[in-house]
Amino acid sequence: MLQPGELQMVEPKRAKPPVHWSDLNSDERKAKVVELGLPAFRADQFSRQWFARLNDDPATWTDVPAELRERVKDELFPNLLTSIRALDCDNGTTVKQVWKLFDGALVESVLMRYPGRVTMCISSQAGCGMNCPFCATGQGGLTRNLSTAEIVEQVLAGARALERGEITGGEGRVNNIVFMGMGEPMANYKNVIATIRRMTDPAPAGYGMSARGITVSTVGLVPRINDLASEGIPVTLALSLHAPDDELRDTLVPINTRYKVREVLDACWNYADVTKRRVSIEYAMIKDINDQAWRAERLADLLVGELVHVNLIPLNPTPGSKWTASRPEDEKAFVRILQERGVAVTVRDTRGREIDGACGQLAATVS
Ligand code: SAH
Repeated sequence: MLQPGELQMVEPKRAKPPVHWSDLNSDERKAKVVELGLPAFRADQFSRQWFARLNDDPATWTDVPAELRERVKDELFPNLLTSIRALDCDNGTTVKQVWKLFDGALVESVLMRYPGRVTMCISSQAGCGMNCPFCATGQGGLTRNLSTAEIVEQVLAGARALERGEITGGEGRVNNIVFMGMGEPMANYKNVIATIRRMTDPAPAGYGMSARGITVSTVGLVPRINDLASEGIPVTLALSLHAPDDELRDTLVPINTRYKVREVLDACWNYADVTKRRVSIEYAMIKDINDQAWRAERLADLLVGELVHVNLIPLNPTPGSKWTASRPEDEKAFVRILQERGVAVTVRDTRGREIDGACGQLAATVS
């Protein structure tokens, strides 16, 4: 028998998010409806409502018998994300959502509308275990992986708002998804791949967007980069490099102590070879830390001649950070050096800064 005090030592069983339609692939959906005693053809009906019509209220699904609708909602479409705060800026074209999950964990997603396209930045984990010192999410550690449906529903929430004309600019669709919110997508590999499949599967099974519009951003988990190369899905791979030398990268991206710059770049070039997709190199510009001209030269040495594009991100200092963004003249010099060596480079826009929606600020602190 347990003695008083012993109870605390028993690990609490971590509850899992309820299973949702968006967790399931086509075969699993058919099996699920059959398990509920319904004919298999209902699966396509439900999927069409959810992914094609973007109607998230089963009570209004007139092609489903009225007496079934409530049961369908409860058993197949449980609510997973509760919006506890929506913040917008840029005239309503940037919208950040803070979501509360079934267990109280908080995650964020950001919708960004540009002329002619909409990008959604989504979270793959609650928190993150990668511990990069300049990133707000990294400071809080990892809470847990998100389920596939918890990731998918972040996109669909944005897709529905667009479909209903609720976002400045009128009706629209999500064209791009970037896994650049909270979490390390490669550390939740299975669910991230399933999410990509849900988003790219043609309607009615999925949202039917192009895999080319999806970017998976990683600190560089080499075995998972190799796995992704063999999936046969042409998503864009983004590597958060942030330093060309192991000495500095060991401190900025601690997983570098395990997978070195050379090794992770080789995995990237293999990815580019297999998929014919240009790899994106993310590089946060941190004043006097990684922005010296000699580091730009070192970076160019590593990248020249490869199928690659460099994205420089002005550092968003996290609260209490000892680091800040590079001086404009240092940023310009860095860009020029890369350009002169023939390496494609752009400076990332910093949409959503005012609403803490920009890179590295997705800490989901709610006060
Ligand atoms: N874990 C993944 C994806 C999430 S972060 C990754 O590391 O790639 C998305 C991008 O924002 C990464 O390149 C990350 O290094 C960058 N980032 C994090 N904190 C930042 C900050 N404070 N300023 C600028 N970029 C930051």
